[in-house]
Amino acid sequence: MSEVPANAALIGGLIEACREVIAANADHLSELDRAIGDGDHGTNMRRGLEAVYAERSRLAELPLPKALEETGLTLVMSVGGAAGPLYGTLLIEIGRHLAGANGQIDFARAFEHAIDAVARRGRASAGDKTLLDVLYPVHAEVVRRAGLAGIAEEAERAASLTFGMKAIRGRAAFLGDRSVGHVDPGAKSCALLTAAICRFLEEQCPA
Ligand code: ADP
Ligand code: MG
Repeated sequence: MSEVPANAALIGGLIEACREVIAANADHLSELDRAIGDGDHGTNMRRGLEAVYAERSRLAELPLPKALEETGLTLVMSVGGAAGPLYGTLLIEIGRHLAGANGQIDFARAFEHAIDAVARRGRASAGDKTLLDVLYPVHAEVVRRAGLAGIAEEAERAASLTFGMKAIRGRAAFLGDRSVGHVDPGAKSCALLTAAICRFLEEQCPA
């Protein structure tokens, strides 16, 4: 049996939605990174999403867990910068966890396991002013079964809260107290991607 068309449409659609939102916001993400980093986050993410987009036909043929894992590997190889291995780890670990779930698909569990892997990889915790400060609140919304719109809203809110945080990890940590008063670029890209994914899923399965 080959893949069901719904699977291919889902994977292809998610890739397109993510590529589009990053392309549209790449300049803004780099601008955020110029303030507290080295100004390349938008360029890094755009390069990664373009690499994934270039592989979308192959990825869309795969079962979802494998597609997530392969997408993660592509991000690790193409993004460059700290964000590549972190986003890559997230997708690789969600995919591996779902693949080992023996048909019992528990996305919240897989997501939690993957976020922990990202935290270990970055030696970062909640409150360190990184993309984890969006991932943890988004996970909490998934666990409490908030609707897609609620999850997207929470992601945006969580990203904006990094404005008041002092960076403990990543390049921004070199600025110490001067990192306060800026939104973290990785948190922002994470919120944008979350919102794009939620919008796409909502269009696919309207309530
Ligand atoms: P680089 O910092 O190497 O230039 P990017 O600019 O692409 O990489 O990504 C920066 C983002 O990556 C930060 O805004 C932050 O959200 C995230 N980040 C950086 N270092 C870490 C870390 N150690 N743990 C978690 N997230 C991190
Ligand atoms: Mg950077």
